[in-house]
Amino acid sequence: MNYNIAVLEGDGIGPEICAGAVKTLEKVGEKFGHKFNFTYYPIGGSAIDKCGVPLPESTAEGCLKSDAVLLGAVGGYKWDDMPVDKRPEKGLLEIRKAMRLYSNIRPAKLWKNLAKASPLKYELVKDGVEIIIVRELTGGIYFGERKSGLENGVQYASDTEKYDVREIERITEIACRLAMKRSKKLVSVDKANVLESSRLWRKTVHAYCKNNYPEIEVRDVLVDNMAMQIVKNPSQFDVVVTSNLFGDILSDEAAQVTGSIGMLASSSLGDSKCGLYEPIHGSAPDIAGQDTANPIATILAAAMMLRDSLDLNEEYTAVENAVQKFLDCGYRTADIMEDGKIKVGCAEAARLIADMI
Ligand code: NAD
Repeated sequence: MNYNIAVLEGDGIGPEICAGAVKTLEKVGEKFGHKFNFTYYPIGGSAIDKCGVPLPESTAEGCLKSDAVLLGAVGGYKWDDMPVDKRPEKGLLEIRKAMRLYSNIRPAKLWKNLAKASPLKYELVKDGVEIIIVRELTGGIYFGERKSGLENGVQYASDTEKYDVREIERITEIACRLAMKRSKKLVSVDKANVLESSRLWRKTVHAYCKNNYPEIEVRDVLVDNMAMQIVKNPSQFDVVVTSNLFGDILSDEAAQVTGSIGMLASSSLGDSKCGLYEPIHGSAPDIAGQDTANPIATILAAAMMLRDSLDLNEEYTAVENAVQKFLDCGYRTADIMEDGKIKVGCAEAARLIADMI
């Protein structure tokens, strides 16, 4: 099969880590008989330098006609003093909007050889951790009505958490599709003991699953309890679906449990199959151009692309297995280096992983 992939390298370590992911995809193509056509488009600071805006129209158009989009990261010291509207990060918000992406999927996986990187005690993580948080991305309190002013002479401000059934159903669908490929267990996080919007969330998730995915077991967890359980017993979770605000906080908490920012990927999906795949970390300007970045988060983002946009499950597993083998052989990039291991740079890590596919 032939697939068209848009590559948005962005800034800082973006080009280095994207090169690693492209190398991996090329190897997958060779091994499984696919052809990946890569087209590079500017985004973020480098797009500001080239075209004057963080998301040129040609980049958005190129992404929309691709089968999937691979993104490095944007931002850097050079653009830090620009007005908010013209900053590299604006390119991210705009591309998500242009592609109508309403879900963000963040797997927080603690690889068995990296258990020591977790800030949690070994006994708590020894069974492995893989929490996949599916976060609603375009609704809720971040987009609800905002007000501020004076009430009885006292200054006030308010934000509104609002969801409708359609928004909840479509994010539940994304979570269910993932749960079906995994344990068929879904945790839905809300605050239904207090919030009306959470009560609708809970009712809708249950009705949707019952009607469309009766084989999935749904469990509700209140957000305060979820925040505790992630640090108390993280191995109990698989796929978790939640709102924009709760997902924002919980996905960062779960990422911390793994202790290695350079190993975590994420994807954003909407109604079409064409998703956006990226590492969760930023452009790391402090190490850019030194060939020391960890390319694994971006390589795993490319693996998610194979599974979730291109339906290539076997190929996804092959990349995951290659990353595990790389770790098993004792190779480490600087950020995850431990005594007695073999330190490798970004390009060498990507080459080794590609060779192990
Ligand atoms: P960061 O994630 O770029 O870096 C945080 C720390 O982690 C740094 O010490 C960095 O060297 C290290 N690090 C990050 N990725 C790594 C990797 N793959 N391998 C090894 N070490 C890695 O966060 P920051 O420093 O807060 O932000 C830097 C820039 O990135 C800012 O301009 C910020 O706005 C931007 N940013 C972009 C995105 C994105 O593009 N999605 C996300 C977050 C931050």
